[in-house]
Amino acid sequence: MENLPCQGCRGLCCGPVPITENELVQIKKKIKSMPRRTREELENQHRYFGTCIFYDLDGDRCGIHSVRPAICGAFGHYENLICFRKPEAASEANWKAKERAVGVLSVDFTWKDF
Ligand code: SF4
Ligand code: SF4
Repeated sequence: MENLPCQGCRGLCCGPVPITENELVQIKKKIKSMPRRTREELENQHRYFGTCIFYDLDGDRCGIHSVRPAICGAFGHYENLICFRKPEAASEANWKAKERAVGVLSVDFTWKDF
């Protein structure tokens, strides 16, 4: 898959995303395993309204990268998930979730759930 120029985007495409039960469980585990300071620093960043609650503004990256939802990894590479900065990287047909979503991260699930 083609690389995307994500550095410097500061979470431009990181908004509310649908997540599955399994993804929710994995994210909960990840958050619980974080040192308290890391977790608090991530939680208390001042994000724009609409930016994903796990976007790490200070680090300019996903704050839960190893357990990010599948849709996040697919973003930019599929015709229905086009990157604003590099639309030509979307070389695959439409992305489809393999499992049913249980809700939307940042909307149905916020920091108090983790
Ligand atoms: S996928 Fe595209 S819009 Fe999203 S952070 Fe990367 S370059 Fe920016
Ligand atoms: S989980 Fe990570 S990659 Fe997905 S929207 Fe949130 S910050 Fe972005």
